[in-house]
Amino acid sequence: MSIPYEEKASSGLARLGLKVASDQLDSVAQQAAAASWSYTHFLGYLLEGELAERHRKTVELSLKLSHLPYVKRLEDFDFPAQPGIDRRLIEELATGRFLYEGRNIVFLGPPGVGKTHLAIGFAMITAELGHRIYFTTAIEMARKLTKAMAENRLHVEMNNLTRPKLLVVDEVGYLGLDPPQASLLFQAICSRYERNQAIVLTSNKAFGEWGSVFAGDPVMAAAALDRLLHRCTVINIRGESYRLKEKRSAGHIETPKEEKSRKKKNSDSE
Ligand code: ADP
Ligand code: MG
Repeated sequence: MSIPYEEKASSGLARLGLKVASDQLDSVAQQAAAASWSYTHFLGYLLEGELAERHRKTVELSLKLSHLPYVKRLEDFDFPAQPGIDRRLIEELATGRFLYEGRNIVFLGPPGVGKTHLAIGFAMITAELGHRIYFTTAIEMARKLTKAMAENRLHVEMNNLTRPKLLVVDEVGYLGLDPPQASLLFQAICSRYERNQAIVLTSNKAFGEWGSVFAGDPVMAAAALDRLLHRCTVINIRGESYRLKEKRSAGHIETPKEEKSRKKKNSDSE
C-alpha cells in the first residue's frame, strides 16, 4: 500500500532537515484551508517559520562563540548625553554595510565614554545579520597568540581571528605590549586587512601615541595604522565618563566647579 502524500509531506520535510516546517505543517495547513490561501502563500508561510528558527539558532551560536563580555545594544546608547557623536553616522554604520566593504571602525577616547558599549553594539548587529564575531582585548589577543606561537599552532589561532566576519579588538593601548606581542597584533591586523575583513577597535590613545602601543616601534605602528585606516571610520569621543556624569547629576559627586568653590571656602575659613 502506498503511503498517503499527507504523511509523506511531514516525514519528507523532516528528512530534508526542515524540522520546524515538519512540526508546523498540520497547523499551517489548517490555517491555509480556513483562510483559502494560495499554494504558494502556504509554502512561503511554512518556510518563513523554518527560516526564522534557523536564523535564531545562527545568532545564538554566534553569540555563544563570540567571547562578548556582556550584551550592549546601540539602541541603549544615550546619544544626547554624547553630543560629540554623529548619531546619523552610527545609524548608517548600523546597516552593516561596513562589514561587506571590509571597512574598519575605530573608537578613540578617554575611559568611560562608551567605546566598548558601541563596539559591542556593532558586534551584536553583526551576529544578528547571521555572521560570526569574535571579541577580544588587545592584551588578551596578544597573550593568546604568544601562547599559540610557543605551542607551534600560531596559524590556527590566527585563523580564529581572521575567519569571523567581525573582530572586535578592545582596549588597544591600555596595557603595554612587549615587542613580540606588538608584532603579533600587527600580524593579526595585516591578516584581516588582506582578506578584507572588518575590525572594530577601541583605544584610549590618539594615533600619534601609537608608537608606544607597538612597544616603542614607530615603524610598525605606522604600518599597522596604514592598514587599519585604509578603509576606516574613526569616531573620536570626547568628554567625561558616562557613569561619572550620571553620578554627578544625581548629586553623588561634585562638579569640578563645586569642588573648587568648596576648597576655596575651606581655605577662607581656616
Ligand atoms: P569605555 O569603553 O569608553 O571605557 P564603556 O563603553 O565601558 O566605556 O562605558 C562605561 C559604562 O557606561 C558602560 O556600562 C556603558 O554602557 C555606559 N555608557 C557609556 N556611555 C554611554 C552612553 N552614552 N549611553 C549609555 N550608556 C553609556
Ligand atoms: Mg572600554
